[in-house]
Amino acid sequence: MTEIVGRLAPSPTGALHVGHARSFLLAWWHARSRGGRVVLRIEDLDRERVKPGATDLVLRDLEWLGLDWDGPMLRQSEDEEPLRAAVAELLERGSVYPCFCTRREIALSAPHVTDGEVRYPGTCRGRFASAADGERELGRAPGLRLAVEPGELALEDGFVGPFTSDVEREVGDFQVQRRDGALAYQLAVVVHDARQGVTEVLRGRDLLSSSARQWLLQEHLGLPHPTWYHVPVVVDEGGARLAKRRGDATLVELRERRVDPRALVAWVARSSGVNAPDRIGARDALEGFRLDAVPKEDVVFGARERAALG
Ligand code: GLU
Repeated sequence: MTEIVGRLAPSPTGALHVGHARSFLLAWWHARSRGGRVVLRIEDLDRERVKPGATDLVLRDLEWLGLDWDGPMLRQSEDEEPLRAAVAELLERGSVYPCFCTRREIALSAPHVTDGEVRYPGTCRGRFASAADGERELGRAPGLRLAVEPGELALEDGFVGPFTSDVEREVGDFQVQRRDGALAYQLAVVVHDARQGVTEVLRGRDLLSSSARQWLLQEHLGLPHPTWYHVPVVVDEGGARLAKRRGDATLVELRERRVDPRALVAWVARSSGVNAPDRIGARDALEGFRLDAVPKEDVVFGARERAALG
């Protein structure tokens, strides 16, 4: 039997909220309840968005929730070597091409927006004979984009079921390296998931649209495809997804209010089909957890739920 390896992959870009807590608990329960391991990765590559001190806060949040992990945690920013090697491999295979476009140019030239993402219209594909030619002509350094073939991919999600995605139509050729040299999330996720031996990725449904890009990169790099489980997200009373930038229901705030973490874990457990008492530890909910009992709808965490935590 192959070993089950799940993962927690927080981004230290601000305080985690109840939505993150739910996804992390579900990922941990799903792996651990089947005898699997859980690894931790801190997704801190995006220097523009990483907040100082946020990694320590995230670690405290995980501990507060009663979650643990196996082996050393991986900080993406300290493990860029394999990412650079993957980029070199993509270059060598001719899978990526240099792109000189600025964000502004792309926004101006691309009217197509899917899920808040601007489709890249392919401006730089085949534009210059070499990256050096482009740099000479435009006087700036390029990023790199994966050349995406048109067509629909039929993929499978362990929670959502079968789904299709046409990456070329939805987002077009996508970045694997930014113009400032920073490595893109899509590339980092697939390389580091493989490096950490991850066999299953359970995360919020908002990331479902990234999966096809990640599947393509795995194909190009000859990496295994983990099983995905994209679970419903936590929304407020108005149906809006909780967001870091709005400072929604952060775990720091709950800790400061001296909320018992077992009350939050109990709320997550009950909203996930576990028959739990008012307070329960993460480990104690393992026995009653089954992913197929998790409802398919988004869950509301509003003023009422917040007050009920005590
Ligand atoms: N680090 C990402 C986030 O916190 C999750 C990435 C992933 O699960 O693939 O939104």
